[in-house]
Amino acid sequence: MRIPLDRQSDIPLYQQIEAHLRKSILSGALPPETRLPASRQLAHDLGVNRNTVENAYSALEADGLVFSRMGSGTYVLTVYPLPAMQKNNVNLPWPLWQTSLSKNIISNADRADEMLKAGGHPHPISFASGLSDARQFPVEEFRKVIQSVMRRDQIDALEYGERKGYAPLREGIARILASQGLQTHPENILITAGSQQAIFLASQVLLKPNDIIIVEDPTYPAAVDLFRALGFQIVGVPVDSQGMQVEKLEKLLQQYHPKLIYTVPNFHNPTGTCLNSARRRQLIMLADKYNLPILEDDFVGDLRYEGHAQPSLKSLDMGGQVIYVSTFSKMLMPGLRIGFIVADGPVNESLLNFKRLSDLATSTLIQRALDAYMTVGRYQTYLHRSSQVFRARRDAMVSAIKKYLPKNISFEVPKGGLFIWLQLPQSISTNELQPIACKEGMAFAPGNSFFIDGVSGEDWLRLNFASQPVDDIEEGIKRLGRALQRLRNRKK
Ligand code: PMP
Repeated sequence: MRIPLDRQSDIPLYQQIEAHLRKSILSGALPPETRLPASRQLAHDLGVNRNTVENAYSALEADGLVFSRMGSGTYVLTVYPLPAMQKNNVNLPWPLWQTSLSKNIISNADRADEMLKAGGHPHPISFASGLSDARQFPVEEFRKVIQSVMRRDQIDALEYGERKGYAPLREGIARILASQGLQTHPENILITAGSQQAIFLASQVLLKPNDIIIVEDPTYPAAVDLFRALGFQIVGVPVDSQGMQVEKLEKLLQQYHPKLIYTVPNFHNPTGTCLNSARRRQLIMLADKYNLPILEDDFVGDLRYEGHAQPSLKSLDMGGQVIYVSTFSKMLMPGLRIGFIVADGPVNESLLNFKRLSDLATSTLIQRALDAYMTVGRYQTYLHRSSQVFRARRDAMVSAIKKYLPKNISFEVPKGGLFIWLQLPQSISTNELQPIACKEGMAFAPGNSFFIDGVSGEDWLRLNFASQPVDDIEEGIKRLGRALQRLRNRKK
C-alpha cells in the first residue's frame, strides 16, 4: 500500500497514515471487510517504525473504523453514515419531538437588551435589567475569600456537603434575618440556587398541574413563566400604590379555591411598591381563614432608602402559613446563585426532598466563601453603601424624568428597591416606543411583559435606576425623551 508521507511536516507520521486510511475508509475506497496490510509489512513498505503503523491502526480502531482479529489481521468495518447535522443543512426539518415542544413559556422581558445591542449605538444605556450594578461587585475581595476557603477547608470545600446547606451559612442568614426582625432557627433555612429555585421548589411541593395560583398582576415575569411551565392556572390581583389590593382577594379565594398566593410585598417587581401594614395583616388573616399558604418573595427587602421597614409577612405569621424566600443576587452578586427558603413545619422535609431531586446540593465552595465573606457587620456595611449609591441614582432618575419627559406621564417615587414604574399617556404603546428608544441608544422593560395576559399595560414601562451610574441615568432618560418625541411626531 502506498501512502504519501511528508517527513518535513510537523504532523507526526502515525497521524498522516491514520488520516490517509480514514479518508479511504470513509470514501469507500477501502470497503468493509478489506484486510489492511500487516503492520510489519506496511512499516517496511513506508520505511517507518512498526510502532508508527500500530499507533495509526489503534487510533482507527478506537474510532470504530477498523477492528483487529487475533492472529488474523486488521479489517475495515462497515461505517454507518450519520444523519447530516441540522445546523449545516437548513432544509432538513427538525425531528417531530423537537417541533412539538411548548414555545409559550418565554416572556419578552429579556428582548429589550438584544434590541438595544442591535440598534448599534456606540454608548448604549440600558435600564431594562432586573439586576443591581455589576460594577459594584466586590470582585477582588471575593477572589481572596475563595482562595482562603480552599486553603482552610481543602477537600471539605469540594464535597456535596450538608443537604440543607452549609450550617454556618444558615446560622449567618438566621442572624441577618434576626437583625431585620425575622426570628428563625437555622434548621428552618434551606439554601437554594438563587430564589428562582426556591420559588420552583415551593411550587412543586404545594401545587400540581391545573391548580390555581394567585399572583399580583403585574408581577415578576419569570415566576409567571415558571408557574405556567408547571401547568398552573394563574389568577391575578391588581396592584396599587400600596401593593396588592388585598381587599379584592377574598372574593377570588371563594371563586377560585387557589392552592397558593405568590407575592412580592417589598419593592415589588415591577411596580416598586410596598404592601402597607393593614394589608399585610389582612393577607395573613385570609391565609389563615382559607388554609392557604403564602409564598413571600423578598428579593430586595433590605434595599430601603427612606421610611420605615414593614414587618415581613413571615414575621407576622404565627401559624406556619408563610414560606419566605430571599436571595443574595441583588444584595451581593447574582452569579453566586445563593438564595434561601425559610419555612416551618412538615413542609421543610418536602422542600428538602425536592431540593435533592432538583440538583442534589448547592455549591459547597460558594456557600463556604459566602459564609466567610458575609458577617452580619459586613452585610450591614455593604447594605448601607449600596443603599446610598442606589438612593442617589433613584434621585437622579426622578429629576431626569421631571426634566426630560413630558408632564403627562405618571409615576410614584419608590422608597427602595431597583425600579421606577412609569405610565405614559394611553395613546403611546411602549412596544412601538421600544425600537425607537433602542435606536436612540437606551432600553427599558416594556410594561406588558409583567402582566399575566402579556398584553395589558402597554402604556407602562419599568426603569431600573440601580444598574447605571448617575451620568448615564441623565443621558439615558434624555434619550427616552427624544424617542417619545419622535414617536409623537410620527403619529401626527
Ligand atoms: N424574585 C424576583 C422578584 C426577581 O426579580 C428575581 C430575579 N430578577 C428573582 C426572584 C430571582 O432571582 P435569583 O434566582 O437570582 O435569586
